[in-house]
Amino acid sequence: MTTTIPHWIDGKAHPGGGTRAGDVTNPATGRVTGRVAFAGPEEIEAAVVSAKKAAGDWAATSISARTRVVFRFRELLDARKVELAALITAEHGKVRSDALGEVSRGLEVVEFACGIPHLLKGGNSPQVSTGVDVKSIRQPLGVVGIISPFNFPAMVPMWFFPIAIAAGNAVVLKPSEKDPSASIWMAELWKEAGLPDGVFTVLQGDKVAVDGLLDHPDVASISFVGSTPIAEYVYERASRAGKRVQALGGAKNHMVVLPDADLDLAADAAVSAGYGSAGERCMAISVVVAVGETGDALVQKIAERTHTLRIGDGAQDTDMGPLVTRPHRDKVASYVDAGESEGATLVVDGRQVDAAGEADGFWLGPTLFDHVTPSMSIYADEIFGPVLSVVRADTYREALDLVNANRYGNGTAIFTGNGGAARAFETDVQVGMIGVNVPIPVPMAYYSFGGWKASLFGDTHAHGTEGVHFFTRGKVVTARWPDPGTAGGLELAFPKNH
Ligand code: NAD
Repeated sequence: MTTTIPHWIDGKAHPGGGTRAGDVTNPATGRVTGRVAFAGPEEIEAAVVSAKKAAGDWAATSISARTRVVFRFRELLDARKVELAALITAEHGKVRSDALGEVSRGLEVVEFACGIPHLLKGGNSPQVSTGVDVKSIRQPLGVVGIISPFNFPAMVPMWFFPIAIAAGNAVVLKPSEKDPSASIWMAELWKEAGLPDGVFTVLQGDKVAVDGLLDHPDVASISFVGSTPIAEYVYERASRAGKRVQALGGAKNHMVVLPDADLDLAADAAVSAGYGSAGERCMAISVVVAVGETGDALVQKIAERTHTLRIGDGAQDTDMGPLVTRPHRDKVASYVDAGESEGATLVVDGRQVDAAGEADGFWLGPTLFDHVTPSMSIYADEIFGPVLSVVRADTYREALDLVNANRYGNGTAIFTGNGGAARAFETDVQVGMIGVNVPIPVPMAYYSFGGWKASLFGDTHAHGTEGVHFFTRGKVVTARWPDPGTAGGLELAFPKNH
């Protein structure tokens, strides 16, 4: 018997009234493990009405009381993170240590949100004019929508909801239909932490649920993370509906290796960042740009390391798990075919993988191409799988121009022993997050996460102070309290200060 993963509305599981639902699979076995309800108009309306009802009281709850609930959520999550990691592995396929890492990075945002009393402080300028004071305050938006991708079912929602909730908003989360259980687990945890019903809602589903949130007049903002075409669509549609939108899209992250780099360090980094989570990370390295004479030695070192990786069921002791679904696995494998026919040199072929897992799992091993050129589809497209391309560049300038010509600008890294070169790269590269001898430069929670160009639509990045800004709206108050009898006198000219 398969279970049906419900919505979470009004502080409880809601089975959904419609007939539409999707399969949830365990990628390591290929078996269907559950069904997930797909929201229709009735569930969308029930979710937003419940959130709207809860938002007013929650916004009026004292900052101290709100913070205490967020802190309790933090304590519960920290104590029980292994449970959440196991759920992620079972539906996404990533290995247990990687799933735990994901939860820990989400936890850091919860910890940041516990500092909301400090983050919400406004400014105050007494006596800006005689007897006149000015102060600024920030208020919650109301009901905020979050739409998340399959590859981080816990961390990506946690980029947003801890801050949104701490700031006094009610959240409606639409998780990926591929791995929906983590969201329900987190909803139950919020309830245990004492969050009032309706402040955290989960609406399961597909495009219908997404469009319902984009168009709903009572949803004030949309935080979206997913592929670039959908991010662009979400940004346009929700902006047209008058909402505040941040829509984070896809990526093609380059790692530039200069001739003076430590090649062992660079090869370790390329393998960890290229094949971790089977390449299904928006900050994965998918292109290594080998500058000057480094190419042959670097490719050899990367290839050697791929052969040491243990591929198999993430619930066992392995390094790399399966891909998320059968269609996604086949799509990624089709890029390996394409790379071969386009003339790249196939150094390691993941299609031949011997995985420690069931035959029907969605397996594809680490794949390495050398002599890739920008005109090839394996370079141009975001593959989102364990396929690493090496491009050769004669000079640093050529490597920089290549990165800057790419349509995406999420993350990048430079490996070098030259501080001057690294510093020039930081300044000149057109990318939002940069690593220097660090392959996956995901910012800490108190900085903000976001790319440039086709990797982010909107102007506000996730979490950090930009996140606090996104989930609040500013007001400025100008006040005068004259002594009785001293005020008065008409003045029709535009007010000036004296
Ligand atoms: P996706 O775009 O297919 O789905 C993302 C969300 O949009 C899901 O909730 C999905 O249900 C919904 N959706 C899918 N099709 C839709 C449609 N036609 N209309 C409306 N909504 C739709 O992305 P995914 O495959 O779940 O995730 C992988 C993608 O996410 C990759 O491109 C990856 O780079 C990107 N990503 C980006 C970041 C970042 O920070 N920039 C982080 C994680 C993932």
